[in-house]
Amino acid sequence: MITSFLEKPADSPLMPIPETAVNIYTPKNPFPAEVMSKCRITDASSPNYSWHVVLNLKGSKMAGKYRIGQSVGVVPTGRFNSAEFNYAHEALNNKIRLYSITSACWGDDWKGETVSLCVKREIAEDEETGELVLGVDSNYICDAKPGDEMLVTGPVGKSFLLPDNPLDYNYVFTATGTGIAPFVGMLVELFNQGFEREVWLVFGVPYSTDIMYNEEFLYFAERHPNFHYTTAISREQTNARGGKMYVQDRLEEHQDGIAPLLAQSDTLFYMCGLKGMEYGIYPWLYRIGSNLVNLPDGLTVADIQGLSRNAPEWSKIERARDRKRLFKETY
Ligand code: NAP
Repeated sequence: MITSFLEKPADSPLMPIPETAVNIYTPKNPFPAEVMSKCRITDASSPNYSWHVVLNLKGSKMAGKYRIGQSVGVVPTGRFNSAEFNYAHEALNNKIRLYSITSACWGDDWKGETVSLCVKREIAEDEETGELVLGVDSNYICDAKPGDEMLVTGPVGKSFLLPDNPLDYNYVFTATGTGIAPFVGMLVELFNQGFEREVWLVFGVPYSTDIMYNEEFLYFAERHPNFHYTTAISREQTNARGGKMYVQDRLEEHQDGIAPLLAQSDTLFYMCGLKGMEYGIYPWLYRIGSNLVNLPDGLTVADIQGLSRNAPEWSKIERARDRKRLFKETY
């Protein structure tokens, strides 16, 4: 368990949350950040290799200036140019990939001089040839060792932040896979500022060995009865209809607690992770009559339940969300 970043040490002051700044470092002017440490956050027995990677921002203009909910770019600097493997995305080398920041604005050091990322190795086989396919940037980051230098850009993003007065709201956070990243820092920021409202975290992963930051979330859940933490383990658990247990099924299971909370105008809803989760979460929001989503002209709640993923109606549904209360970062 990575306890040091969960609670502020008694002797260090709590820095104010910074104003939102973007593009302090650009692709033409990246910051060379040293890898300070890395820690495997999926179980040793999991075939998914995900790491919590801490980068040193000391001496950079980004130190103390990024906000949770933003992303940073990482430039793979060519480590794989002469790789012996078949890196399917080799042509994309040196192109920047964005990763959601995991750490609260205070970093893992409580001075804002570090930034952390949560990265899963992208490993697959080419469907036709059976050759190994490794994602360039994710493997670049997960291979890095303490002391290595990594070029970073950013921060970027203004639309997935906590509000300016975060303690005045309730929250429902929903995540799949590494989409969990921003919610780690958001919970750290909330609880270290004395958050007393209600917060739910519904987290979906394939296997129980893939639950990243589980001990950290349990640590918060033990100390904060207003934190409701639940997981949806898709390939081990089944929903009420006998299908895979997804985040939307867990939301439905807990809707007696969650729906009344969502009906309050001071409850914010965040989703982060796979795009597919939207196709389950939106229909559920319509089913419970949530005011986070309006009904687009010409559609009924029943129509929305049966829409296929490529239905043109999704763009209307997307436009009908309350953008001040429903935030999403899905890919
Ligand atoms: P993963 O480990 O494969 O977990 C995804 C989970 O979502 C699985 O349990 C999966 O179930 C489930 N799922 C699949 N389809 C779903 C649906 N329609 N509705 C609800 N749940 C569904 O995830 P991952 O590989 O880490 O991917 C996470 C995604 O988040 C990536 O697209 C990534 O780009 C994005 N993301 C990453 C970051 C970051 O900072 N790293 C930040 C934001 C977003 P089954 O596979 O069993 O069907």
